[in-house]
Amino acid sequence: AASDHDPRGSSTRGWALQQAAAEVLPGGVNSATRYVGHPYAFGGGDGAYVVDLDGNRYLDYHAAFGAILLGHNSPVVDDPVRAAVGTLDLFGLGVTELEVELATRVIEAIPSAEMMIATMSGSEATAQAVRLARAATGRQLLVKFQGGFHGWHDAVARNVISRPELAYGHDPLSAGILDTALESTLIAEFNDLDSVRALFEQFPERIAAVIMEPIPHNVGALVPTQEFVDGLRALTSEHGSLLIFDEVITGFRHALGGYQEICGVRPDLTTFGKGMANGYPIGGLAGPRSLMERFDGQKGDVLLAGTFNGYAIGATAAIATIDHLRANPDFYTRTHALGERMRSGLASIVAELGLEATVAGFGGVFSLYFAAGPIRGYRDLMRNDDQAYAGFHRRMTDKGFLMIPMSLKRNHVSGSHTEEDVDRTLDAARDVLAGMKA
Ligand code: PLP
Repeated sequence: AASDHDPRGSSTRGWALQQAAAEVLPGGVNSATRYVGHPYAFGGGDGAYVVDLDGNRYLDYHAAFGAILLGHNSPVVDDPVRAAVGTLDLFGLGVTELEVELATRVIEAIPSAEMMIATMSGSEATAQAVRLARAATGRQLLVKFQGGFHGWHDAVARNVISRPELAYGHDPLSAGILDTALESTLIAEFNDLDSVRALFEQFPERIAAVIMEPIPHNVGALVPTQEFVDGLRALTSEHGSLLIFDEVITGFRHALGGYQEICGVRPDLTTFGKGMANGYPIGGLAGPRSLMERFDGQKGDVLLAGTFNGYAIGATAAIATIDHLRANPDFYTRTHALGERMRSGLASIVAELGLEATVAGFGGVFSLYFAAGPIRGYRDLMRNDDQAYAGFHRRMTDKGFLMIPMSLKRNHVSGSHTEEDVDRTLDAARDVLAGMKA
């Protein structure tokens, strides 16, 4: 985008579309976090790039909140999907070959998986995980971590991302949530085992499960200490509770077997979504046979339902994505190396300019916090300067680099980014950050 025109200004097609959208969609969008005060309207994507309706091209690190893993419109996934359209259908009775193929691949890939169910989204997967945990333990309470996001449903609707004065307190994600759901969700601090231990002591034999993003990417990247994940595994087992890894972001992205493959901890239940099908809607829940058989309609007691569960296009896209990752393990060495190149480059710029900022991330994921380090948990994140991040984001967008607009989320390197892309991004970031300092 040239500097003499505003790519999101009132003379653009994007602006006009946003005006029209505001008449027919609440807030002009179909998911509230897609509107950030400026209109964005994209018409297409290609590999690491997206193009807006006015023809401006952006190098994309937003990646649809991480749903794009290999790159936009990747032929690896789109070609089999194209072939599937018109040959596959929906029946609502029995099972298809694709569903068995998908489950088999997921079970092979994920260390703790013996059976899986396919859902349409990550939220549905975590809803099923929480319900299954309650059924299996006969307990009601759920522990989650301040700042963790597990979807939009009631069971996980507390203490997602807070204003400092609301953190750890009464902080529903939305109006209209049952009080009992909010009261049944207990909040702990990430990377602080004592905060979880205290809840087990306070509520003996009442906690059904601890749910966690193994790396809470919904607040950037708080990488867990090994002691923390080992300790959670031991603590939940000792108290007869389940450990749920919500790998909706980390799954397939950081390793074929998810973060559980990397940290060596085996959760009881694992949820998936996002990048698993490179942009096509799907989610999943996997676990041991003993738990998953409770979804068995003949002999189990937990309802498994969903008209579109395991539908052909999502299953085809997920199978193609997983097969590609399995056949090309260099996807992980490449994206991890590019992520590291970005993080170390940003860290050098921050040091050079003497900024009060901290670079975080893991694998191909990176975040820039406008707060001095170390950043270990949510309490540290409350020092983040949101306005500074907003300025950084806006100026980077104006230069053609699309990053996530929320200050505590994260950016993604996909299978389509190159070293040259990263280096150009770093040059732009140096200019922007030097300008913000001046
Ligand atoms: N879990 C995590 C960790 C997520 O980041 C998200 C979405 O952002 C979800 C669950 C919900 O997934 P979906 O948006 O597909 O319902």
